Amino acid sequence: MAGVSAVSRFALRRSVSAYLTQTCKRITRGIIFTAGAHAANSDDYLKLTPQDWKKKLTPEQYYITRQRGTEPAFSGSYYNHYEDGIYQCVCCGSELFSSTTKFDSGSGWPSFHSAIGGEEGSVETRQDTSHFMIRTEVLCRKCKAHLGHVFPDGPQPTGLRYCINSIALKFMPEKIT
Ligand SMILES: [Zn+2]
Repeated sequence: MAGVSAVSRFALRRSVSAYLTQTCKRITRGIIFTAGAHAANSDDYLKLTPQDWKKKLTPEQYYITRQRGTEPAFSGSYYNHYEDGIYQCVCCGSELFSSTTKFDSGSGWPSFHSAIGGEEGSVETRQDTSHFMIRTEVLCRKCKAHLGHVFPDGPQPTGLRYCINSIALKFMPEKIT
């Protein structure tokens, strides 16, 4: 009898422990991957640690968006890409740029004259004095991903050129209704 009871106690402990492990995994997955959904708010992203971002992103995406890297010109997927659709933030899925504002700047990076929502919209800017230059950095307002820079030499109607790394973007073709 004692033997049976010890065995079932062992089995019970194992199943509780397996259950807890599964639940933890599910919660962790929830935190990281609700992170990709629109429902998550900005605070959820700001709580993510570098380790969390490394799990969620490829090394190239991490370097560009979290370490303010720059992809080589003419190397990305979108500098010469003109399908109709929306360019989302690769980190959080926020809708950043529309294909209707995209133009060929000849720079080798995807270029847009406007961001979705304008100045108070999906991107924000701040001064960047790195590399002995004064530039204006463009970030995703929601998750603070580094996207690229904005320059005052773009076409009308804004006169701006948002010069963005392809790697920081995820293209979603326009839904055909
Ligand atoms: Zn983002």
